[in-house]
Amino acid sequence: MSAGPDDNDQAQASQHRRSTDHDRRAPRPDVGTPRYLDPGDTVFTLWGRVLMARYRRIAAAATRHIIQRPLHIGVSARIFHPEPGATGLRSKNLQYLEESIAQWVMSRDVLVFMIPTVNTDGLLHPSNIRLRDYAKHLDGLVLQGGADVSPQSYSETPTRPEWGGDRARDMYELELLHEFVEAGKPVLGICRGCQLINVAFGGTLYQDIASDVPDSLAHVNDDYDRNRHEVAFPAGSSLSKLFKGKSAGLVNSIHHQAVKTLGRDMAVEALSVPDNMVEAIRYRKAPFVMGLQWHPEFHQAGGVELLDCTAILDNFLRVARETRF
Ligand code: MN
Repeated sequence: MSAGPDDNDQAQASQHRRSTDHDRRAPRPDVGTPRYLDPGDTVFTLWGRVLMARYRRIAAAATRHIIQRPLHIGVSARIFHPEPGATGLRSKNLQYLEESIAQWVMSRDVLVFMIPTVNTDGLLHPSNIRLRDYAKHLDGLVLQGGADVSPQSYSETPTRPEWGGDRARDMYELELLHEFVEAGKPVLGICRGCQLINVAFGGTLYQDIASDVPDSLAHVNDDYDRNRHEVAFPAGSSLSKLFKGKSAGLVNSIHHQAVKTLGRDMAVEALSVPDNMVEAIRYRKAPFVMGLQWHPEFHQAGGVELLDCTAILDNFLRVARETRF
């Protein structure tokens, strides 16, 4: 055993260092084709795989973006017209939404925007924005409940002055509805919204159920949203499929108008029991345009016996996701 370095060892070490320096500089024959590569690879197949990997990364990022960007759902405005002689806020045009409709839609993690009426030819603040722009940038539309549809909108005159409805809101919502339908985006009409969808496609309404169909149920009374009745889903309707064969459900009823004659390409999706008033309709020529005569947004608070309409909301939102681009 050598106890320590001597001159000879140092000379050998120096020799060795020189020889490894020399080796490092010398080209090694196997450099350039790493052994993990398939020896049969050509420059084209290699580039092909590089590009495919890049494409997969971009596609995965885009899919993540599509899935993760929350849906943007527009809700039509309720309109408060100035009251004669009022001062303060009641002397102004107000546009508003009822809290539970926004919260019902937001329960599925979507962003909700109320769509105000646009003033394209007014003197004060004319705008180049059209309702079409809202249909372009939002993913779906909810038509809120509220004032009566004006009989003028289906070529009738009000049989009583108090049944004149809100023609200004009709004009605004009819345009909004047509823009969303034209853009191929889904529409869910609630109560008045259901009646408006029917009128938009040429249907008519009972101006007042109690006077036009005297033997009908009380579809509105002093109980307001506690007034309820049963609805039946016709066999083969999309609602009977959606509720998985369930043929009936309990809903609230807060309306004195109802569908009289169906608009074109409308399918009946629910009828009240036993008086057979139309309680839900669907436009057959679009991915999702549906009107519900009841208020699904009040059901959760109304009790577990009321029909859980989450499946309808989810169906609406699914179509919104599919048609957003
Ligand atoms: Mn009803």
